[in-house]
Amino acid sequence: MPAQRFDNPESIIARKEGIAPGEDAEKGLITLPGEADRDLGDLGGGSYLTTKVDTMVNWARGNSLWPLPFGTACCAIEFMSMVSSHYDIARFGAEVVRFSPRQADLMIVAGTIVDKMAPVMKKIYEQMPEPRYVIAMGACATSGGFYRMYHVVQGIDEVIPVDIWVPGCPPTPEGLMYGILKLKEKIERGEIKR
Ligand code: SF4
Repeated sequence: MPAQRFDNPESIIARKEGIAPGEDAEKGLITLPGEADRDLGDLGGGSYLTTKVDTMVNWARGNSLWPLPFGTACCAIEFMSMVSSHYDIARFGAEVVRFSPRQADLMIVAGTIVDKMAPVMKKIYEQMPEPRYVIAMGACATSGGFYRMYHVVQGIDEVIPVDIWVPGCPPTPEGLMYGILKLKEKIERGEIKR
């Protein structure tokens, strides 16, 4: 197809003469109005970004975590505080709280897990799509806390894999937020393969 003008002669905006997209030096490029007649040599003056697909994907995943709160006790109140306006986890892209495991990729276990609840937690974890991540929030989830008892799980890593541990009883919203930021760093470094 021969080169052709597509500028509007009536336009009050000054434009360079252009050729149809897909021709000559433009082949394979998206042509913006007024840029169609640039030389290939001009491309050297543009701004470019090169990266690996994995890096790009991990960056996107780390900045768009969708948490599923598995709240069984008082720690869940601190979680609610973190997603609310004062602390506002939306600043880090993790505000889309979902109660359906199929729409979440970050399980935050906030509270005491008893033996009766552990299979439920495991089932919900297994229903989450991969890649999926887990934060154990608070002393109870990480170690059973002060419930040194036969019916309390002494750390949820006995049941599901854990990526980040947030200490405290209860942990502060800042503490949980810090845990999410650390998880984000791990994802972006490509350390978590699940
Ligand atoms: S760690 Fe403390 S605040 Fe959190 S669920 Fe256990 S007892 Fe409650």
